Amino acid sequence: MIEYVLVPPPIPSAEIAGTRQRFPVHRIYCVGRNYAEHAREMGNDPKVEPPVFFTKPADAIVASGVAVPYPPRTENLHYEVELVVALGGAGRNIAAGQALGHVFGYAVGNDLTRRDLQGAAKKKGLPWDTGKAFDASAPIGPIRPASLGHVQRGRIWLTVNGETRQQSDVSEMIWSVSDIIAELSTLFELRAGDLIYTGTPAGVGPLKPGDRIECGIDGLESLSNTVVAAGAPQK
Ligand code: MN
Repeated sequence: MIEYVLVPPPIPSAEIAGTRQRFPVHRIYCVGRNYAEHAREMGNDPKVEPPVFFTKPADAIVASGVAVPYPPRTENLHYEVELVVALGGAGRNIAAGQALGHVFGYAVGNDLTRRDLQGAAKKKGLPWDTGKAFDASAPIGPIRPASLGHVQRGRIWLTVNGETRQQSDVSEMIWSVSDIIAELSTLFELRAGDLIYTGTPAGVGPLKPGDRIECGIDGLESLSNTVVAAGAPQK
């Protein structure tokens, strides 16, 4: 038995709809610029620049109903509703035609972004970590097992304080779920427990303390979180 010098940190885990069993999170991969309209609103040409990958730490996940603290060092926190794929099988160089067999399930996620820090990093050609990979930057709703069906189309939406800010269809993704798994598995060995945030549609925008965010995708349980001022008591 291993003796650790510290109490080992807990394994981050996400809720699975309809069961008390939980999904242990190994890594979080994210896809950027995977909807053409969003790529354009960020100043990129989706015909020239393919989607990109970045990551967040596994312990950045936040469950639905849990308050999200407004993060430090930003004045421009943005929401990004995304389809999240939870992997149940491992592999490298997975063929697109086999990719859905590696999916455990699907959830609604929010790729929270310190847009000002991301923008500054982009301008200087620096990594996006400070803009993307901060604490509590990855809200995720309950995972619906893929045994109930794969998510290849359906409305994806986000509201802030009841006002619709993002609305598209999952079928608008430039790289499909199969394409993403195939491509990502040429770069990394994928593992059961990995989450993939698959990119956001157009309409991203700022959040402030007190805002109530609701995110949804047809067929999946919705995700809701309230932004609270840093240092405010969290429910
Ligand atoms: Mn995103």
